[in-house]
Amino acid sequence: MVGVGAASLIPTGPGEDPWTEAELAEVRAELEDEIVRLRTKVASAEAELHELLTEGVDAAGRDPADVGATNFERDQGVSLAANARELLDQSVQALKLFNHGQYGVCEVCGQPIGKGRLQVFPRATMCVVCKQKDERR
Ligand SMILES: [Zn+2]
Repeated sequence: MVGVGAASLIPTGPGEDPWTEAELAEVRAELEDEIVRLRTKVASAEAELHELLTEGVDAAGRDPADVGATNFERDQGVSLAANARELLDQSVQALKLFNHGQYGVCEVCGQPIGKGRLQVFPRATMCVVCKQKDERR
């Protein structure tokens, strides 16, 4: 649970109203839901990937086109699983920060991430500016 006074610890962007306990509780609940959802997704993506990898073993003697398709599926599976896992790690990290009262601060520049952004992306650990730089890497 969010303790009394936790709201005042979480920064907001310029021109934004301070967080209310209710808004924080909502963001936190969303993070927790997200983690549950992503855990399921990671598990099923990895199970599927495992299946594809085991299938690959008896691919010998198959039409090369089939093998190509299987390789493509496998690569898709790998990135799907990796992607889900990354989002899961991010959400877990955001929740950890939340529990330590360090939520809402950009992990790169230390500026507030902003309430508006966090309400849309509760797992955000970077402000918009740093996120855009990160994506251009
Ligand atoms: Zn930043």
